[in-house]
Amino acid sequence: MSADEEMTGLTSGQLTLSVVGAGTRRQLRVVARTAEELSDFDGVVSTSVDGSILEGSLSPLNARAVRAKVPGLQPRPVGLATSAGVGDRLGLATPGHVKAFRTYGSGIVPVFAQQSIREMDRLGRTPQEVLDDATFGALEAGWDRQVGADADHLKTFADIDRCLEAGFTTFTIDPGEHVRDVTPSYQGDLTDVPWTALEDDETSMLRRYAAKTIDLEEIALRVSDVELRRAAHKYAAAVAYTVSMYRHLMTHADYPVEVEVAIDETESPTTIAEHVYMATEMKRLGMQWVSFAPRYIGAFEKGVEYIGDTGVLADSLRQHFAVTSALGPYKLSLHSGSDKFSIYALAADATGGMLHLKTSGTSYLEALGVAALCAPSLFREIYDVSRDAYQGARASYQVSAVRDRTPLSRDVADADLDALVTSFDSRQILHVGYGAVLTLRDEQGELRLKDELHSLLGVESDRYHHALETHLGRHLAPLKGTSRHS
Ligand SMILES: [Zn+2]
Repeated sequence: MSADEEMTGLTSGQLTLSVVGAGTRRQLRVVARTAEELSDFDGVVSTSVDGSILEGSLSPLNARAVRAKVPGLQPRPVGLATSAGVGDRLGLATPGHVKAFRTYGSGIVPVFAQQSIREMDRLGRTPQEVLDDATFGALEAGWDRQVGADADHLKTFADIDRCLEAGFTTFTIDPGEHVRDVTPSYQGDLTDVPWTALEDDETSMLRRYAAKTIDLEEIALRVSDVELRRAAHKYAAAVAYTVSMYRHLMTHADYPVEVEVAIDETESPTTIAEHVYMATEMKRLGMQWVSFAPRYIGAFEKGVEYIGDTGVLADSLRQHFAVTSALGPYKLSLHSGSDKFSIYALAADATGGMLHLKTSGTSYLEALGVAALCAPSLFREIYDVSRDAYQGARASYQVSAVRDRTPLSRDVADADLDALVTSFDSRQILHVGYGAVLTLRDEQGELRLKDELHSLLGVESDRYHHALETHLGRHLAPLKGTSRHS
């Protein structure tokens, strides 16, 4: 065993655990005094006078055994601590993420395992694979402190069941499909509100809110009759759906879990009155949650800077935060949080660190940056496939890239390829093209681009991990040290 491997291994009792090798040859290694101590693991054991060494695959069974031996790697609810989720489409980014948290994010609880059901399904990845990749990646980098695991944008009971089975601990419920637009012609009728599911009726609701003031930091907020009708019209079905998802989760979870509610992927911004309505109704129906992602003002497009007035956003965040304090406490959650460098410090300030930041696709873009530098022809293929797939892929994402503004790969010199990863239009096209790229099969049925990207990142793992450390670090550093709760 080299000194390097020894440094990144973890000890648990008499065992030393590590992930060794690179690329497709990564393996679990466990060193023990006797072969009996290795009985929970699966692999080949060699025994000498010095002890026993097991080498095994990165299998679900071994992942579970690792989590049982290293309690820190067993995901737990994060609660109200400042936290950041750093999803990983390739399953290879966690060691780089660990470096980012170590160097730039001390005190911020990491959520290495985080992927939306939509992405998992698009990639043919199971919740178990997402969780296990994060476990092995954290072990590889020698991380043994707290981790969360976020099953993101869950929309069905079946989504919840799959993620419970895998061992996720944060369940992000997304009732976005049940949010209704308030059109200019809306007259205030409440005929479509699912009163039975809400255990409520129109008269009772109107009476409750008429009698209610909510003490926000500087003002006593009253939700007017007009605001209440609009809020109920827009979000009542979403509340009913969220509560049904919550109850399903709570009756089926046999280990500690926590809930986030996310309506970030909806059309119109959530007003303060609408936030008050949703939180009040979810509470009335017995829900508890640790974080809430409203649809904020401005645009949180994928992989690029915040689009909007940051001063207006700061005021809005302060008001949303006042609601979370009055009706919670719970954290505000910032989704599509990648590359929003202009807002991290103001969001941390507005919430006093009662904040969860979700980033994901930019770890994939960092991988493509490595390809642009080290494997130009692979990068060109990935770019072409993403560009061709853009019109279809863009439908499920908030992006505004225009394909006709991007060059053809053959018109770009090798030395300029990495600019395609950073320029606005091509960056978004690459960001949402992952599904087409990573599931593309050649004539032999092989996932050639995915496999080549994986091999490249195995060879260039130091470069990849360093790029992740630097890029994610820029997201984490402004949040550091702001938590009131950790
Ligand atoms: Zn989201």
